[in-house]
Amino acid sequence: MASTEKVYRSCPTCEASCGLVLEIDPAGQSIRAIKGDELDARSKGYVCAKSQAFAHIHDDPERLRRPMKRVGDEWVEVEWKEALDAVASRLAEVRDQHGKDAMALYYGNPNGHNFHTQIYTQMLIQMLDTERFFTAGSVDQQPKNLSCDLLYGNPWLFPVPDLSRTDYFVCMGGNPLVSQGSLLGAPNAAAYLEGIQSRGGKVVVIDPRRTETAEAADQHIFIRPGTDALFLFAWVNELFRRDLIAIGALEDRVEGLEDLERLAEPFTPEAVAARTGIDAQAMRNLVDDFANSDRPVLYGRIGLCTQAFGKLAYRRGEPAARPAGRGRRRHVRPARDRPERGHRSTLGTPTRPVALPCQGFSGVYEHAARLLHGRGTRVRGRGRDPRGVLCRRQSRAQCAKRQAD
Ligand code: SF4
Repeated sequence: MASTEKVYRSCPTCEASCGLVLEIDPAGQSIRAIKGDELDARSKGYVCAKSQAFAHIHDDPERLRRPMKRVGDEWVEVEWKEALDAVASRLAEVRDQHGKDAMALYYGNPNGHNFHTQIYTQMLIQMLDTERFFTAGSVDQQPKNLSCDLLYGNPWLFPVPDLSRTDYFVCMGGNPLVSQGSLLGAPNAAAYLEGIQSRGGKVVVIDPRRTETAEAADQHIFIRPGTDALFLFAWVNELFRRDLIAIGALEDRVEGLEDLERLAEPFTPEAVAARTGIDAQAMRNLVDDFANSDRPVLYGRIGLCTQAFGKLAYRRGEPAARPAGRGRRRHVRPARDRPERGHRSTLGTPTRPVALPCQGFSGVYEHAARLLHGRGTRVRGRGRDPRGVLCRRQSRAQCAKRQAD
């Protein structure tokens, strides 16, 4: 058998980033086998079926290997310099003729797993300066980004559940058995969940669908679609009612606790039971079990994002996840909000920064402001920061009342 060489890589397809061992033919540079790297600290040899496609992609005769230029009906290979010059001059022409926003960018998921594109695409984005920027995140995790920015001061400071140690894992609107842990990165999520159960812990799935993860869980609680924020408000209500909220050492970093208690007050388990489809006693039992566990985790994913109240669901989910004496961090809101800066992109609406008269909606995108205040809402502002979008129809007091309602 011809000799092979081992090359170690991480899989760029999803954020699990499993370690791969590629067995290649050094002469022909073809891939003979793709295996999981047993020594990878996270994936420990696990790979899913998608990893096996790389050999086909690598060998695909139609894979773009060199820049191609259309000449009449033909595609001809050109040098990199010629290709880059052509792209740069065409971009300049389009911008000069139609303005910078005539250009649009779509930034796909694998770029997020590639060091080079992470760096250079950011430069390109800044230089193009277009408002039309779309990403996989546009229909995925923007409410989570926004909530983390509002709660922790940075859109990418995600609390990452410690699946290796938790003894009570509540999963809302996620399906880690299939995704391998979106915004969580858990290669071989099934092993993590089995680990929780073998330690005597419990896995609870709250989802309108009986997902693969729900099948493997100890308990599946059905919830009506789009009612997660109500459910989580009731959860927070229960924590306050039973005096299970404690800030501890984070006293000086947290503000808004009284506001949170006041906002959650009307949302008792009984008040939301009919809307959520979750029995009040079942909800209380869940909060009980969660609060009495040593290392509970509440994790929410795309199901919480892709709905009308995604941002609200996440903002309620964070304090709900931190009852007294459990977990190290119990942030309710950071000591500072930063409405003047933020991340780009959401659903592609032109976006503007403004001096915000309405703190409550300072981080809400244009579409969300319209969703909340009606289609006729005028949204104005300057610049290209999506976080600057604001509904100007509301005074701050009206806004607070509306949120409370
Ligand atoms: S789970 Fe599959 S697609 Fe994702 S990184 Fe691992 S091998 Fe690649």
